[in-house]
This record gives sequence, C-alpha cells and structure tokens, in this order.
Amino acid sequence: MEERHEPVSSAISATNFIKTIVAEDLKSKGLKQIITRFPPEPNGYLHIGHAKSICLNFGLAEDFGGHCNFRFDDTNPSKEEAEYVESIMDDVRWLGFDWENRLYYASDYFEQLYDWAEKLIKKGKAFVCDLNAEEIKQYRGTLTEPGKESPYRNRTVEENLDLFRRMRAGEFPDGAKTLRAKIDMASGNINMRDPVMYRIKHEEHHRTGSKWCIYPMYDYAHGQSDSIEGITHSICTMEYEDHRPLYDWYLQELEIYHPRQIEFARLNLSHTVLSKRKLLRLVKEGFVKGWDDPRMPTLAGLRRRGYTPQSIRNFCDRIGVGKKESLVDTALLEFCIREDLNKRARRVMAVLNPLKVVITNYPEGQTELMDAVNNPEDPDAGNRKVPFGREIYIELEDFMEEPAKGFFRLFPGNEVRLRYAYFIKCTNFIKDSKGNIIEIHCTYDPSTRGGDAPDKRKVKSTLHWVSALHCISAEVRLYDKLFLTEDPNTLPEGKDFIEYINPDSLIVKTALLEPSLKESKAGEVFQFERLGYFCVDTVDSLPGRPVFNRTVTLKDEWVKIQNRIHKKQ
Ligand code: ATP
Ligand code: MG
Repeated sequence: MEERHEPVSSAISATNFIKTIVAEDLKSKGLKQIITRFPPEPNGYLHIGHAKSICLNFGLAEDFGGHCNFRFDDTNPSKEEAEYVESIMDDVRWLGFDWENRLYYASDYFEQLYDWAEKLIKKGKAFVCDLNAEEIKQYRGTLTEPGKESPYRNRTVEENLDLFRRMRAGEFPDGAKTLRAKIDMASGNINMRDPVMYRIKHEEHHRTGSKWCIYPMYDYAHGQSDSIEGITHSICTMEYEDHRPLYDWYLQELEIYHPRQIEFARLNLSHTVLSKRKLLRLVKEGFVKGWDDPRMPTLAGLRRRGYTPQSIRNFCDRIGVGKKESLVDTALLEFCIREDLNKRARRVMAVLNPLKVVITNYPEGQTELMDAVNNPEDPDAGNRKVPFGREIYIELEDFMEEPAKGFFRLFPGNEVRLRYAYFIKCTNFIKDSKGNIIEIHCTYDPSTRGGDAPDKRKVKSTLHWVSALHCISAEVRLYDKLFLTEDPNTLPEGKDFIEYINPDSLIVKTALLEPSLKESKAGEVFQFERLGYFCVDTVDSLPGRPVFNRTVTLKDEWVKIQNRIHKKQ
C-alpha cells in the first residue's frame, strides 16, 4: 500500500480543562515533564473516537514538551489479534504521531502484575473465590442493595497463595476459580465489591503464547501499567470515573507510584456507531466490506474514503475536550475534510449520469484542447488541456424539457456555458420509445471560446462535461450515511441498531471522466467539478483502471446548521 504518513502540525491548539490541570500540576507539583499514554485494546480497528484520544494525549505531550507512550492493553487473549495490533500502529502513524521507542504492552507486565497479586494476597487483601461467573453476579447486589460476601472470602493467606499458584500452574479449568480483591461488598460503588482480579483462560495470547493460563482483568492491569510507566496524567473517558476509586485502592495497597487520572467525555458522532463491539458486528455480519470499508467511522475506513490526517486532527481540535457527552454532527467532520481538500484537490470534470449532447454546427472530426485551471485555490497547481469535440456528455439532471421555476441550466432555446469551452444553445432533443430523453442537440457560438462572450452577454449556468470521443469510464462509489437515524446508540426498547442501516449507503455507478484521470494513482484526491471530492480507491484500483470513492459532496451542511443555530439565538 502507498505510504501516506505526512508531517502534520499540532492538533490541540485550543485550550481545554485538561491543559489547565496539567499546567497547574507542572507548577505546583514540581513535575519535570508530563507523560501521557494512548492505551488501545487490540480488539478492533481504531475509530474517529480514538482519534480524539490520540490527539489529546499526544497533543498534550507535544504542547508541554513531554512524552506520550503507546501501550497495547492486551490483557484479554480471547478478543485480541495481531491484525489489530498492526492496524492500530498504522493508524496512529498515519495521523502523524510518533511514539519513538515508547511502545509498550500490558502483557509485558504480566509477571509484575502477578507478583503484585501475591503481595495483595499476603496482605490479606485478595482471595481465591470458587463462585462461578453467574454466582458472582448474583452476590454482587445492585445499585440499591448491598452485595453478599463470598463464602470463600475468609480463606487463609496460605490457602489463597497455594490456590493462586495452582491456578497459574494450570491445575483448574476455565471459570473454576478467580482471584478477587477483598474490599467491601457493601460499598455504594459496585466496582469496589470484591472485583475479580484474575480469571482462568486456557488460551493462547498473541504475545505470551501459552505461558499463561490466568489473565488479569483490565481494571487490575490498567492502573498498575500506568504506574509502571510513570504516567503523570492518565486520561480516560468518563465511564472510568466510577473505576477510579478501585484504581486508587490498588495503587495504595501496593504502595506504588500513583498517576493522576482525568476523565473526559467520549466522542459520539451522528449517524454512525463508535463501539468496537458494534463495528465488529457490521464487519462480521457483512453489512460492510471490512473494517476499512469507506462507510465505516474507523480511521482505516476514513483514510480509504479520502480523509486526510490533517482534516481529522482539525476536527478533533474543533470539537474540543469537555466532561459532558454530546452528539457531534457528521457535518462538522465533512466540513473539515472539505476545507482541507479545497486547498489540495485538483479540479477535474466527470459525469455521473451521462446525457449525450451533439453540437450540430461543430465541424465533424474536429478536436480542440481547452485550457483548464487545476486548482483556483493553488496557483502552483498549474493548468491542463481538456479535449473537446462535436459530441459531449453532460449530466442528465442538467437538462429539462420544460424548465421548472428557477431552473437555469439547459432547456430548449436556453444558452449555457460549458466550463472552459463554449456557450451552447439547445435546439432540439430526442426521446426513446419510453419517453426518456436520450440525446440533446445544440449549437455553439465559436466566438465564446474559453467561456466568455465578446459581446459580454451573460448566461446563468455553467455545466461540466466530458468529450464523448476522449472520455474514459470508471467505477465510482457514492457513499451516504451508514445509519438512517441520527443516534443509532439510543434506540427505542427492543430495537437493534442493525435495523437502522441505510440501504442506500453505497451506490455504485459507471461514470465518464476526462482522460487526464486515466493514470491517476491510488490515494490521489480530486474535486469532480460540481459533484464533490473523490479519491482513487487504494484497494480495488488497477493501473490505468482507477476506481473512485466519493469522499464528500460539495454541499456544506455544517454552515447551514451553524446559520440555523445563529438565527435561533
Ligand atoms: P470502544 O468503546 O469503541 O470499544 P474502548 O474504550 O473499549 O472503545 P480502547 O481500545 O480501550 O477502546 O480505547 C483506547 C483509548 O481510546 C481509551 O483511552 C479510550 O478512552 C479512548 N476512546 C475510545 N473510544 C473513544 C471515544 N468515542 N471518544 C474518545 N476517546 C475514546
Ligand atoms: Mg476499553
């Protein structure tokens, strides 16, 4: 695959409450430098929500001259795969962040975590429990009722040590025993009700192989991993606020270095889902064609769709960091990519729904090369030649037999401009036996070459077109929202998010394109005039046979939404 790791500038330039805390800590605690971390679990591909966390953690380190560690929280062998590890590293690099030599794995700490578990047992703060998962759940109690103590809670230290060592040695089957912290079954915080620290799983781990058959729970591993790495600010999403007392308890009982945990609100994006469990379902059940399907909110999907690292970093900058959850409109993400591609995408012409136009007074067999500007936003992008001839294609929607009110494009008797070419006037049209318009006849005015009339007469429309003799055809994929409902995460009782998938989220067309696009390279981006931004698909394109993904249309919903909000205020 093509290398597209480009240098990008710092994302989190706006200030936020976490920055304020970090700045204060640096002053008041005499910290030499901050260390943050990005700790993904390798159980799926990264999504745009993770990008928020990556930009935040790497951004803080950048802003305060510290470091950000990259750690795989790989404590659960059942759901983790090496494929995910690879993709996650690719995605972080692609976003433009560098962890240098600071790549860590929670699995590298298994021995240390195990020793610490023994330490807790010896302190009388952990015990081996024979209750099964179902029973543990029943004993746990509810938000309003206290839990019940396990009958195994008062085993002696010796017995606990012996059993835990035999758990490690593989003497017991999966689920037969767990190691649990001995805290408080009556705690108002359910996380403190003797949480499980270790469970038995006779499973291969992607890094430790068959060395272990007991694995630490995330909640036991996470805080200690942060402590081992000397993380100063452990930044996580709000749902871990209730876990903080447990993390504090472990660190205190183990008497080890104590990072500061700060929670922030996770990103929710409209018309999509950002949970790896749900994304995995979309992939596994075939609703999309893999984790990198351009409709997916994964970084791999967005990249394949044509999103640039800079646009995603700008998006993360714009949404900010707070404590209150909200649903961010996808229109903002689209605004960010439009803004970025506007600067870098070459303008070209392509027709999605072709309608043939014959210019009856244009000499048969003649071809002209018209001068076209590659990017009006970028003077360095230069010009190119676009072939023009007697037969061209325009969009079907650009013609009406009887013009509706406000329709200024082509209709009998009306004159329009062909971009970079001539004024043409419609003289006639031809229908097939079913009444469909299949061909238009026009005349052109040779004095309007380049698109302007010497007599200064005006036309109200400029149409894009391709030459019938010279155009190439290519597969073009048009994407729309993956879900029809704004928030597929909050649904009426009994509804499954799958029911809300947009059946038209992908429409495949054969489009006609100007010939300059024939040799375009995988990953290249273009603006098809009037139709949107498109990129050459990195997976399905062949040399000389590009396949195009529409990244985004040109219609800016975000500005509309902003105007609506301003009007209301
Ligand atoms: P998911 O809910 O999608 O399964 P997760 O939290 O289980 O995500 P992790 O791999 O544990 O996924 O996440 C790595 C980091 O990314 C964590 O610090 C987590 O808080 C953060 N993160 C995950 N989802 C979001 C989100 N939607 N917005 C912001 N940060 C997120
Ligand atoms: Mg998680």
